[in-house]
Amino acid sequence: MTETITNIEKSVAQQNAQQIAVNQVIHEGELTGRIHSIETGGTVDGPGIRYIVFFQGCNFKCLYCHNRDTWNFKDGIEVTVKTLMDEIVTYAPFFNATGGGVTASGGEASIQAKFVTSLFKAVHEAGFTTCLDTNGYIKNYTPDINDLITETDTFLLDLKCMNDDIHKKLVGHTNKYTLDFAKHLKELGKKMWIRLVVVPTYTDDEENAHAMGKFIQELGEAVERVELLPYHEMGKHKWAYFNDPYQLDDIEPPSRESLLKIKNILLNYHKEVH
Ligand code: SF4
Repeated sequence: MTETITNIEKSVAQQNAQQIAVNQVIHEGELTGRIHSIETGGTVDGPGIRYIVFFQGCNFKCLYCHNRDTWNFKDGIEVTVKTLMDEIVTYAPFFNATGGGVTASGGEASIQAKFVTSLFKAVHEAGFTTCLDTNGYIKNYTPDINDLITETDTFLLDLKCMNDDIHKKLVGHTNKYTLDFAKHLKELGKKMWIRLVVVPTYTDDEENAHAMGKFIQELGEAVERVELLPYHEMGKHKWAYFNDPYQLDDIEPPSRESLLKIKNILLNYHKEVH
């Protein structure tokens, strides 16, 4: 039964990751990262055409997570920067024509800051752009984290909820570090896209939209765009695979009207809301 489910679960992205790792040579002491999967030709996770590396391991436990299988750091595939770059450079014409490049997603890629930084340095040397898709839960600005910030061109920052009580219910942690991270990026003159997953009864209320709008407004030019991502149930089956209860069983995806209402509120605070 488990084997059957595992086979069904193997997405094209996971197969891609396994394929590129098949012939790699890892030298003793070489820096490696643990990845879950790879998606090529992405168009929504950063500017231009993107090569998206989904890293293994996450420090949040979002109730709506559709990447439940990325949580455990020990799972996934071990890869070197060279293995990834050998594949990434083959997409150069697409990146060069669109301003695209590599997006580190997950899971939470910042947990593997040293490896992601090393990858991003190589991506920059090849002339492509870098994006970090992150929950921003950075408690300590270690040298590895600071280097990762330096090597990241655009941050895709998930602001899960402005109300900290709801935030804790939704992801298991306070929003304090994420909000501080956004302010820190602004001070450094970094660019970010702010993303909100609209989850009915958790993050779809007007109060949250206004609070988020005000926060984004304070970040000023640092925020290039704001994106609303409607909650969906596509990752629900993964929770069943891990025998985890899915607590949002009764929650339906948000209506168009609800999304439009939030969008219109946010447009009072930022001109680019999608
Ligand atoms: S931060 Fe992302 S990968 Fe981690 S639990 Fe939340 S939705 Fe899932």
